[in-house]
Amino acid sequence: MFSEDFNEAASWLASAKRVVVFTGAGVSAESGIPTFRDAVGFWSRFTPETFATWQGLLDTANTQPAELTRFLIALLEPIAAARPNPAHLAIAEMDKHASVTVITQNVDGLHQDAGSGRVLEVHGSLLEVVDQEQRRIRNLTRADLVKIVRRLQRAEAHPEKKDLLAWAIRPLASLTPPGGYRPRIVLFGDQMAEPDWSEALQAAEECDCFLTVGTSGTVMPAAWLPSRARVAGAMVIGVGPESGVGDTCLQGQAGEIMPKLVQAAFSDAT
Ligand code: NAD
Repeated sequence: MFSEDFNEAASWLASAKRVVVFTGAGVSAESGIPTFRDAVGFWSRFTPETFATWQGLLDTANTQPAELTRFLIALLEPIAAARPNPAHLAIAEMDKHASVTVITQNVDGLHQDAGSGRVLEVHGSLLEVVDQEQRRIRNLTRADLVKIVRRLQRAEAHPEKKDLLAWAIRPLASLTPPGGYRPRIVLFGDQMAEPDWSEALQAAEECDCFLTVGTSGTVMPAAWLPSRARVAGAMVIGVGPESGVGDTCLQGQAGEIMPKLVQAAFSDAT
């Protein structure tokens, strides 16, 4: 038996002409990728002041290479091994029934792997490498990330061999010369990824149903999107363990709620 909120959310979704699904780290938690701000999240183990800026990472490479190696293994290993979970698959399924734009803060590529057609990555992607002018110079695969993690583990086991860290991450970022190329991810102080961010603002204003899934709503400016959508007339549905920002909040794990919600909204969906 579903709650009144759940039935209301399903009917908004079913009748929407344009849907935005706005996702954060929580949508990938059930794929084994830790979130950043939960009690056991990433920032409880690593200080954002040091590790969330590009300059901080470059400085740490010089001053604390072993700590940077540990951080990179913790960041990359779960993303290298991740596969889409039932929430990503349910979101991709929605493409068959509605005009859907996925706006994600995640950098893990899992919406594309699940088959979603239009994905705007407002914080960029760990699977793309760009030069200093943000021109794409290559794509990476999860197999490439696995290789990088194995090399980092070698560097971790041999801290006395100073060159192993730079060698390990060479496909992803250059430490010599520092910052010559890097993953296309938005760190603290960086501009939002374009053209995705401008398109996301437009999609939020044009949709009639805006679903936020697995985001704490604290990272600016992305966290403005739900209120922009609401001001422009959309119904906002929140999905996650905490009561969130929505006109209706469906509390629980995305991997449980999203398949049921999509099924209820589009009864022939699997
Ligand atoms: P956050 O870490 O601030 O918050 C995650 C939210 O997800 C929390 O509200 C939490 O309660 C919720 N959550 C946890 N498990 C969930 C589940 N199973 N189902 C639904 N919700 C669940 O994440 P954020 O708001 O996305 O912002 C953090 C920033 O860190 C983002 O900008 C993102 O770029 C980045 N990030 C990305 C990844 C990734 O690519 N997978 C992972 C961690 C962080």
